[in-house]
Amino acid sequence: MPRIQLATDDHSRDSAGMRYVYPVISRRAGGVSVGINLNPNNACNWRCIYCQVPDLKRGGPPPIDLALLELELNDFLREAVSGDFMATRIPLGARRLVDVAFSGNGEPTSATEFAAAVAIVEGVLESHGLAGKLIIRVITNGSLLDRRAVQAGIGRIGRAGGEVWFKVDAGTSTGFARINGTRVRPDRVVRRLALCAALAPTWVQTCLFRRDGQLPADQELSAWLELLAPLALQLAGVHLYSLARPSLQVEAPRLARIDAVWMEAFAERVRKTGLTVRVSP
Ligand code: SF4
Repeated sequence: MPRIQLATDDHSRDSAGMRYVYPVISRRAGGVSVGINLNPNNACNWRCIYCQVPDLKRGGPPPIDLALLELELNDFLREAVSGDFMATRIPLGARRLVDVAFSGNGEPTSATEFAAAVAIVEGVLESHGLAGKLIIRVITNGSLLDRRAVQAGIGRIGRAGGEVWFKVDAGTSTGFARINGTRVRPDRVVRRLALCAALAPTWVQTCLFRRDGQLPADQELSAWLELLAPLALQLAGVHLYSLARPSLQVEAPRLARIDAVWMEAFAERVRKTGLTVRVSP
């Protein structure tokens, strides 16, 4: 199999020398996350100002070579389970597989083959005796949930015991435009989120950061809360995080992390609505 090189928190998609599969050591999860990158051309339908994809461009992925994806995942899992990958590449304490995550250099559900790719991951996990042991996740901006093919892929993830991390960084159209570089109506976001939550356990992911030294506007935070609070019983919860790694977009010098004290205080405000909240430092 290709040479695998990775260091803790190295999220570089080519660290394993494969096109679609990239292992990442996740400190938070205490193990190795097997990333699936369906966007090897660094193209996304959004342009988030905090995005960590290098040379990000607008667009979608080229056709996915599903046979290659299957081969890479098979090879990697064989090495990870029976080879010396863990012993030679991974520090003690992190030598376990924690998940398979569709999380690449763009929006994974924009691949026409998304549902087929999920089916391949399920089959490969099954053949390695890992079905039900390694959770399948998709990290999505949720913008394509209206497509039946995307719903089919997410439904498959739900039936396999997996989950969705669904990006909601704002509460108003202006906020989505400023942060995510997309034109979207908040009521459409809510509809897609509810649809997603009916198909698979869904965690909202919200990135909060300072822009030009300013905290997120209270009006934006209140609008975000108003969007999500009615879904408290449908959602698995909300994951709040700040900038863990620097943005690779032109706005990078204008963005900064928010401290843990502010994040916790905001989390408390969110919990009062009945939403489950996790905060990443
Ligand atoms: S949706 Fe994800 S990949 Fe796309 S621009 Fe935003 S952060 Fe980057």
